[in-house]
Amino acid sequence: MAGEAQDDCLFCKIVAGDVPATVVRETETTVAFRDINPQAPTHVLVIPKAHYPDAASLAAAEPAIAADVLREAGEVAAQEKAESHRIVFNTGTGAGQTVFHTHAHVLGGRGLQWPPG
Ligand code: 5GP
Ligand code: ZN
Repeated sequence: MAGEAQDDCLFCKIVAGDVPATVVRETETTVAFRDINPQAPTHVLVIPKAHYPDAASLAAAEPAIAADVLREAGEVAAQEKAESHRIVFNTGTGAGQTVFHTHAHVLGGRGLQWPPG
């Protein structure tokens, strides 16, 4: 069924508590935790608890949960006092996506260049 936990998915394992993570926020539908390889002083991943491979498929199937992810990304930035920040959904291997469970990167705490390259 769409949205069901996948046995081979790292982020489903984090949701289940089977892989440890430094969780900074949690709601009924989302978890936010620090990236293991931070690219900025603030680098937090916000994920839906439900498994969807990318942001567009989540938004198509569960628009309310997609909105929850965006709201939580903003809350993380506020909690981290990262007034200037970037929220990124890498989609597809060519864009650097390596984990195929929707995640918003929240990056802040340093100057961020645009375009990102
Ligand atoms: P992507 O490249 O798919 O956009 O982002 C995946 C992110 O997950 C990367 O920034 C990577 O550092 C992070 N990551 C990979 N494995 C783990 C892990 O086991 N724990 C945490 N907290 N982050 C991870
Ligand atoms: Zn998953």
